[in-house]
Amino acid sequence: MKLCECGCGLPTRPVPETDSSKNWKRGEWLRFRQHHKPPLKDRFMEKFDKTSNGCWIWNACRFQKGYGTLVKDGRAHGAHRIAWELFRGPIPKGMQVLHTCDIPPCVNPDHLFLGTNDDNMLDKAKKGRISMKLTPNQVVSIRQLASTGIRKPILAKQFGVNLRMIYRIVNREAWIHVQTPTF
Ligand SMILES: [Zn+2]
Ligand SMILES: [Zn+2]
Repeated sequence: MKLCECGCGLPTRPVPETDSSKNWKRGEWLRFRQHHKPPLKDRFMEKFDKTSNGCWIWNACRFQKGYGTLVKDGRAHGAHRIAWELFRGPIPKGMQVLHTCDIPPCVNPDHLFLGTNDDNMLDKAKKGRISMKLTPNQVVSIRQLASTGIRKPILAKQFGVNLRMIYRIVNREAWIHVQTPTF
């Protein structure tokens, strides 16, 4: 006999037939009862890749805006919101889970903070005006690379800043204090 791995305490049933696509072997027991799933945290922990800048990038389903999704209680939730609940606690009513890293699919709780929708707008506006992450050398590189014809969405990805920021840098609307030769 084997207990369901979801933690419900109920036994599963024997594997009905060998089926390699389902990882079933006759004679063994199923890992879960029908419709039971691994605990939320287990399902969460296997669905992201860590990047060198510390982001945990969701590699499963995503909402259109890039936020990861995870099914909880039969409904799709934002994976970053689930990250907050798993690692930090409940999200107070009306609060949003926002990113310090500005990367919607990131679910690293250390890159998340609680705020209101107003905070979100303010935060976005602030990040649009000054880049918190780039160094002057990177700014020079961005302008140089853009002048060689490298597409701006690629630069945005490569340097980990939003596209608008790349445009502002290239158009000399941001980081204007960094002297760059005209390429
Ligand atoms: Zn169960
Ligand atoms: Zn992040």
